[in-house]
Amino acid sequence: MAVDLAKVAKEKGIRYFLISFSDLFGVARSKLVPAAAIKDMQKNGAGFAGFAAWLDMTPAHPDMFAIPDPDSLIQLPWKPEVGWLASDLWMAGKPVEASPRIMLKRQIEKAKKAGYVLKTGVECEYHLVTADGTSIADENDIQEKPCYDQAALMRRYDVISEICDAMLDLGWNPYQNDHEDGNGQFEMNWDFTDCLETADRHTFFKLMTKQIAENHGLRATFMPKPFMELTGNGCHCHASLWDKTGKKCLFDGKDEMGLSPLAYNFLGGVMHSAEALCALFNPTVNSYKRINAPATTSGATWAPNTVTYGGNNRTHMVRIPDGGRFEFRLMDGAANPYLLQAGVLAAGLEGIAEKRDPGKRLDIDMYSEGHKAQGARKLPLNLLDALRALDKSKSLRTAMGSEQIDSYVKLKMQEWNSYCHHLTQWERDRTLDV
Ligand SMILES: [Mg+2]
Repeated sequence: MAVDLAKVAKEKGIRYFLISFSDLFGVARSKLVPAAAIKDMQKNGAGFAGFAAWLDMTPAHPDMFAIPDPDSLIQLPWKPEVGWLASDLWMAGKPVEASPRIMLKRQIEKAKKAGYVLKTGVECEYHLVTADGTSIADENDIQEKPCYDQAALMRRYDVISEICDAMLDLGWNPYQNDHEDGNGQFEMNWDFTDCLETADRHTFFKLMTKQIAENHGLRATFMPKPFMELTGNGCHCHASLWDKTGKKCLFDGKDEMGLSPLAYNFLGGVMHSAEALCALFNPTVNSYKRINAPATTSGATWAPNTVTYGGNNRTHMVRIPDGGRFEFRLMDGAANPYLLQAGVLAAGLEGIAEKRDPGKRLDIDMYSEGHKAQGARKLPLNLLDALRALDKSKSLRTAMGSEQIDSYVKLKMQEWNSYCHHLTQWERDRTLDV
């Protein structure tokens, strides 16, 4: 055993461990375990009933065990006596293949075999809203173009600086915080790193931001489109591939965009599977009100509508801000942190294996000149279209496992059906008198 958590608890004054896992819908689930019981839990895991979470299991399934990854340990900065641990799910002596952290680990193993390491960073946007979630919390945050608004940012200094201080102490190397393009919306950036660590940090960042906001009498939401007229919460992912010697595999100084042939294949894979990937990157009914949205009060949605890529141009699904790196702009705040990374890696590796061509770069403003992009594929208009695309995707089924895709599509279809059984005021208004 590399790290003895019972010993670490004594050294660091940890009284409780929060053994946490992310289910297929990205809900963080935990058991709070006293340090006195961690020795056994570290070896055998904390027990859960899988059906009680969003996993493809029945009430008749045996116990599922969350075995913590000691390398992921984070002492809660706002309550250091609690240690958070990401964990992997096991059942009947085997890993649960249709669980997000295992699905990401399988892609990482495949990448390693092919000689690659995926490094990523995520840009988690969120809104600070009132406790009931119906409006933004800051009544004075009313600028038509609120992006980078100094006054609104400084009115939230106490919350933002507490979260940023925590990231500094945790060694994440945060480097900037800003007010984003929607009223009440913020973004905080920290360094990129190996994709599993980014997924763990992404999961923890959401917990931390929500908790610290709550401690300040606010509510933080990562909901993709909490207000129809305002810019939604994206979760852009910056990705680069490295080899074992630490060389960047996607960079080529001779190419106009600074991309290697391998980079174009990686991009080709993501472009090829884009509609299916939406089911993972934009996993909720609400997600589709962020992509394909009409212009917001600030003038732009900053979200993509089409399966296109450009240079340093934020109106496309993929931006190439620098040589050797992509910014995937499709993902939103509801994306499961592990499935987000697993989807990028699975599609990119498939593109490399199949030598996929991403097609031509478009150097146009997709918001105002989209009509010029002849034949550009539209992104799915709703969750159902995305789920059908994922269900039919031979590429992602092969890359991520057919049974895993079946489990995900099955549960998400149930969610879609539940949404369809919900009567809205909009349809009453338009249909009551027909
Ligand atoms: Mg942003």
